[in-house]
Parts: sequence; C-alpha cells; structure tokens
Amino acid sequence: MGENTRLAEARRILQEYIKLKGLRNTPERQAVLTAVYTVGTPFTIDSLWEYICDELPVTRVTVYNNLELFFNAGLVIKRPNGSIGMEYEACVQTQTHHNMCCTVCRQLFEFKDPSIATFLGQKKYRKFKMTNCSVMIYGICSKCQAKINREKRKQKNKKQ
Ligand SMILES: [Zn+2]
Repeated sequence: MGENTRLAEARRILQEYIKLKGLRNTPERQAVLTAVYTVGTPFTIDSLWEYICDELPVTRVTVYNNLELFFNAGLVIKRPNGSIGMEYEACVQTQTHHNMCCTVCRQLFEFKDPSIATFLGQKKYRKFKMTNCSVMIYGICSKCQAKINREKRKQKNKKQ
C-alpha cells in the first residue's frame, strides 16, 4: 500500500487529535506530517528538518515540537539509536496482517483479509475505540493435517 494512503490516514488521526486537544492545524504542522510520511525511512530531527526545508522554511523547534505531538498522537514511534541520537519513524499502517497459528507444529502463517478490519470496524465496543486490529486464527496447517490423516490410515490398516 502506497505512502499516500498512509499519509491520508495519518492526516485523519492528526485532525482528530488536535480537535480533541483544542490545538490549531498550521501549514507548518501539515508540512512536518507530510515529510514524516513521505521520507520513507527512519529519521532524526535534523535529517527531517533538512528534508522539510527544501519545501518550506520552518525552525528546528517547530520540527521538534510537532514530532513530540505526533508521538503523543500515535503517529510516530521513537527510539534511541547510539551516536545518531533519537530516531523517529512513521507508524500508521493502513494494511493489517492477521495470523494463523497451527496448534500442532506452532507455526505462524501471515495472511491479509481487509474484510476482517471492515467487519470489526463496524462494531461498537463498550468503553473502547478500535484503531486497528489483528486477528489470530487457531487451527491445523495442511502439512499437519496430512500427517494426522496418514497416522489415522496406519491405525486403520493395523486393525484390519
Ligand atoms: Zn502444523
């Protein structure tokens, strides 16, 4: 899924967040968010600042303050990275992976099914607002099913 879809989703989340907090949406804030979701790699305050300044002159403090706000709004994650310092990364995902877990061999299989998120998104949960979802389906994988069937046939043949 493209960066533009993620940016659109991030804009929607930011809009909700600043409304909730009674903040203003400034062109600078929009520019920082757009940069976060188009730069395509993890970044530092300084590397993002340089990236934005090609488009719009903003101060380093503006970049820093907005990244802190985005962090609180769940739009970026941050982690210390040795000599580089604090590293940030865009974290809004528009495509969700679900998992199937084989209860026999414990192997995990990833799968995509957008209809699950659509279905769950329509439901109302008490005192909880769903922002994303990941479903785990338990069962038996095809390899284990084949193995079990072989064992069953063996047992059957012994009895005869
Ligand atoms: Zn299995």
